[in-house]
Amino acid sequence: MDDMQEKDSIFEQMVTRGHERLCFHHDKETGLRAIIAIHSTVLGNALGGTRRWCYASEADAVYDVLRLSKGMTYKAAVSGLPMGGAKSVILKPSRDHQKTEAEAKAMGRFVDSFNGAYIAAEDVGVDTQFVDWMATETKHVMGGETVSTGGDPSPWTAMGTFHGMKACLIHAGLGDSFDGKVVAMQGVGSVGQNLCRLLTEAGATVKVADIKQENIDFVVEEYGCTQVSNEEILTTECDILAPCALGGVIDGMLVQQLMCPIVCGAANNILGDPEEDGAALKQAGILYGPDFVVNAGGLIHLAGLHLGMSEETLQQKNDEIFDTTVEILERGESTASTYAAAVEVAKNRIERGQETELHAS
Ligand code: NAD
Repeated sequence: MDDMQEKDSIFEQMVTRGHERLCFHHDKETGLRAIIAIHSTVLGNALGGTRRWCYASEADAVYDVLRLSKGMTYKAAVSGLPMGGAKSVILKPSRDHQKTEAEAKAMGRFVDSFNGAYIAAEDVGVDTQFVDWMATETKHVMGGETVSTGGDPSPWTAMGTFHGMKACLIHAGLGDSFDGKVVAMQGVGSVGQNLCRLLTEAGATVKVADIKQENIDFVVEEYGCTQVSNEEILTTECDILAPCALGGVIDGMLVQQLMCPIVCGAANNILGDPEEDGAALKQAGILYGPDFVVNAGGLIHLAGLHLGMSEETLQQKNDEIFDTTVEILERGESTASTYAAAVEVAKNRIERGQETELHAS
C-alpha cells in the first residue's frame, strides 16, 4: 500500500496524488459501472488504457484507477511525450462476466464525454475488439484494428521492457547479453507472451507462472518456457524477476526473500509502496527497473500514432527506453531509489513543459 490508504476520503486521495478529475459513470441500459481518472493534462491530453476487472470493493477500484492514472503522467513525461496521464476502469460484476458490445459502446460514450481530454486504449481485460466497439461511439480511442487504429500495443510494451531489462543487466554488471540468463515471469498474457518470445530468441531461459493454465501451456509449447508454481515464482532463483501480471506484488516483506539481482517487468505499479519498497530493494542490493519507465512502449506507440509520428520515429522512441533506463539507473545511485530517480526525471520534464507553455502564451 502506498502513501494513501483506501480508507482515506476520495477527495483526500485525489488531492494527495494531485488528480484533476475523477468521474464515475453508470449506464442504466447495460449496468456498466466505470470510472475515469485524469491525473494531469499539464503536458497535453491524456492517453491511458481501460482496465476491466472484478474488484473486491469500490474502494479497490478507486485506488487502482488513481494509482494507474498517476503512473501514466509519469510514464508520458519520462518518455518525452507531450501528453498527460489518465486511466479508466470498468468494474466487472463477477469474475467470469463476459465483455459485450453494448457495454463497450456505453464505455465509449463515457469516454466521449471528455471531448478528447481522455483517450482510451487497452489494458488488462480489454482487447482490440472491445476497443473497436468503444470506437463506434467516440473517436477518442486508440488501439483497435478496424474502427480505431494502432492495434494491440503489447508487442511494443514487451519490446520496451526488453530494452529496460538490458539496461538493468548492464548496470548490474551482468553484461549486455541475455544468453544463458534466467528470467522469472509472473503473468504471461499479452505482454508476457511477447516478452517470452524476445527473451528466448535472445538466449534466455524463462520460468513462468500464471493463474491461467492455457497461457502457460502456450509459452511452454511455443518458446520452451518452464512452468513454476504461482507460490514460487516471485522467490525463485533468477537473474531478472519480471512481474507482468498485476501491480502491488513486491513489498518490504518480500524484498528479503527475493533471489534475484534485478526486478524489471511490464506490470504497472509493481511496488506496493513505491517509495518504501524502492528504497528497500536498493538496500538489499537489488536493482529495480522502474515500471513506468520500462513499460512505456505501448503508450509511446499509441500516443505517437495519435500525435502523427512516423513508424521510424516510433521505433526510435521505443529504442530510447534503453537510454532513459540507463540514465535513471545511474541517477538512482545517488537518490533513495531508482523509483525516486524516475519520478525526479518525470517531474523535471513536466516542469520544463509547463515553463515552455508559459513562455509560449
Ligand atoms: P493480460 O491480461 O493480457 O495478461 C495478464 C496475465 O497475468 C494474464 O495471463 C493473467 O492470467 C495473469 N495474472 C493475473 N493475476 C495473476 C497472478 N496473481 N499470478 C499470476 N498471473 C496472474 O494483460 P497485459 O496486457 O499482458 O498486461 C500485463 C501488465 O502489464 C498489466 O499490469 C498492465 O497494466 C501492464 N501493462 C500493459 C501494457 C500493454 O501494452 N498491454 C502496457 C503497459 C503496462
